[in-house]
Amino acid sequence: MNIDDLYQELIIDHGTDPRNCHVLNNANHEFEGFNPLCGDKVHVYVLVENDIISDVSFTNKGCAISTASASIMTEILKGKTINAAQDIFKQFQHLLTSEEAAGASLGKLAALVGVRKFPSRVKCATLAWHTFQQALNVRENHG
Ligand code: ZN
Repeated sequence: MNIDDLYQELIIDHGTDPRNCHVLNNANHEFEGFNPLCGDKVHVYVLVENDIISDVSFTNKGCAISTASASIMTEILKGKTINAAQDIFKQFQHLLTSEEAAGASLGKLAALVGVRKFPSRVKCATLAWHTFQQALNVRENHG
């Protein structure tokens, strides 16, 4: 089995059996994102405590790539600081628009870098991440 097959398996695994796919009732940030190019919708829930992502989950309706990406994202983000999360996203975004090979530091996210061969799917792979970022900017308890 070559590395592309392994990545393919990982995307199918997370696409059909997503992790952390549920509403997070005690979330203090949430946002709903939409990718009109494909029709993907994702709702991201985040519980941030002392700048650490204590918990993160999502619910969605979308293609296998967007589902796998959201699932892998929640696994990666849990327990990370906000700054670490931003760094990982920057790295991921950079790789999606470059020719560079994905470094080991990206872990399972490296599987999704393969979508850069299909530019129309890049938005599917980054939707959950953009939604996560927007969620961080939206706070509950405004008044
Ligand atoms: Zn999609």
